[in-house]
Amino acid sequence: MADKFDVIVIGAGPGGYTAAIRCAQLGFSTACIDKSQDKSGAPVLGGTCLNWGCIPSKALLDVSHKFAEARDHFSELGITIEGVGVDVAKMMARKDKVVAQLTGGIATLFKANGVTSIAGCARLLAGKKVEHTNAQGQVSILEAGHVILAPGSVPVAIEPTPLNGELIVDSERALEFTEVPPRLGVIGAGAIGLELGSVWSRLGSEVIILEALEEFLPAADQRIARDGLRILKKQGMDIRLGARVMGSSIEDNAVSIEYVEGDEQNHVEVDKVIVAVGRRPYTEELLAPDSGVNLDERGFIYVNEGCETEAPGVYAVGDVVRGPMLAHKGMEEGMMVAERIAGEKSQVNYDTVPSVIYTHPEIAWVGKTEEELKASGDGYVVGSFPFAASGRALAAADAEGMVKIIADAESDRILGVHVLGPQASELIAEAVIAMEFSASAEDLGLTMFAHPTLSESMHEAALAVGGHAIHMVNRKRSN
Ligand code: FAD
Ligand code: NAD
Repeated sequence: MADKFDVIVIGAGPGGYTAAIRCAQLGFSTACIDKSQDKSGAPVLGGTCLNWGCIPSKALLDVSHKFAEARDHFSELGITIEGVGVDVAKMMARKDKVVAQLTGGIATLFKANGVTSIAGCARLLAGKKVEHTNAQGQVSILEAGHVILAPGSVPVAIEPTPLNGELIVDSERALEFTEVPPRLGVIGAGAIGLELGSVWSRLGSEVIILEALEEFLPAADQRIARDGLRILKKQGMDIRLGARVMGSSIEDNAVSIEYVEGDEQNHVEVDKVIVAVGRRPYTEELLAPDSGVNLDERGFIYVNEGCETEAPGVYAVGDVVRGPMLAHKGMEEGMMVAERIAGEKSQVNYDTVPSVIYTHPEIAWVGKTEEELKASGDGYVVGSFPFAASGRALAAADAEGMVKIIADAESDRILGVHVLGPQASELIAEAVIAMEFSASAEDLGLTMFAHPTLSESMHEAALAVGGHAIHMVNRKRSN
């Protein structure tokens, strides 16, 4: 193996593998070092996203949704099936197969693009040198023209509910349950809590989610969040807001979680607990004291808009730097950094990072919420369209939620789009493209959408901004 590369990338999650592939495409000799291992101890690429995050959680979400549809809704559609059951072991094995296919795919892409994949732990030394330790503990020093740090993040732990790997677990373990827990406690009503809560609730767990904040999904538009909360509660998830977890105890294979709601002391007994209270940047053993890379006050690697650290020639991308901890944000940063190293002027537009929560219905948004605009005092106009008025959504018996578009009162430029509904994760891409091109609501309204589609709801919401949606009675709202 060579010991000098144009670029060394540390971490092969979405941020790191994208950076490595793009660097190789641009003609740089590139190595990517990653220390992750699968259950058998073999090196594995793809980071959190492919192994313990986005992909396995979506595999379980999609399968559990199909199961819940068959059990609870098929009869309303005239489909008769009897004895619908779930085989957790089979479901998990399929999830593992999807993960293996995709992580193997990264290995193939590395090979095809000429990226040198190195298994083991990496530490950044001064002067763009990288210390590599392999599985046998052998240490070697590699040199690079540029280094890209992409070590990702790990779950935050809290004192009142210490993880024990069995009854009180983090998201990684929660993707490995071997049976459906009769009662499941989830701490945190964020993306992970709602997604994994949905999985196990659909499969039959009684799910209780304890969320410290009084507000549900504070980063989302509150009209959408309120409707989402109502629907998720109706599905059976017991979401308790303003519930501060104070302690826990384990007895007879059950966990008692103590929490305070207002002035009231409460407790709840469950069979498993998932702690999903956020993630923190992972920089343990990554940086030698003289590496020249600094952390900010919250422990993230400090970078500028172009993801440059304070050490010349060293960049950092993904969950380890400021901004939302999302795979697509890390991937765009990885691509940007590779192109900047090649002398191009690439940028990431942080104003158009889409957020999605893969519940059913899905919750997705991009840009400003109505609350943010109200607080800023800028004038805006809102147009919304309910899926209950969409022919396609009704035909599919999937008509909960709405599309809400917020546009600038003067220029009509789209400032934010918020979707609660079927396929919101796909629909939001239309809004991202529109906003990337600085579209006005009128531009979207003048665009033709195929009929009958869910996308037409985006069209109708854009028309509603101008007060002339066709398939509903218009109620224009401005501020
Ligand atoms: P990571 O994916 O964490 O990869 C970092 C890699 O670097 C790891 O393999 C790590 O072992 C390696 N590494 C760290 N330090 C070293 C070192 N010193 N030497 C060598 N290797 C090192 N995001 C979405 O956008 N959509 C989703 O649907 C979604 N779902 C999620 C579901 C769950 C349950 C979780 C936990 C997360 C989810 N996320 C989702 C978040 C997403 O997984 C992260 O934003 C993304 O993985 C971050 O990518 P990254 O490249 O920065 O880091
Ligand atoms: P999060 O920040 O989304 O949500 C954590 C929630 O826990 C918050 O609502 C917070 O108020 C609450 N909380 C914090 N401390 C608490 C306490 N002591 N008691 C009760 N509630 C408490 O974090 P997450 O859900 O753990 O996800 C971690 C990261 O992974 C997020 O940044 C998220 O973007 C990413 N992720 C994304 C997706 C997706 O894009 N669909 C899915 C899963 C995870």
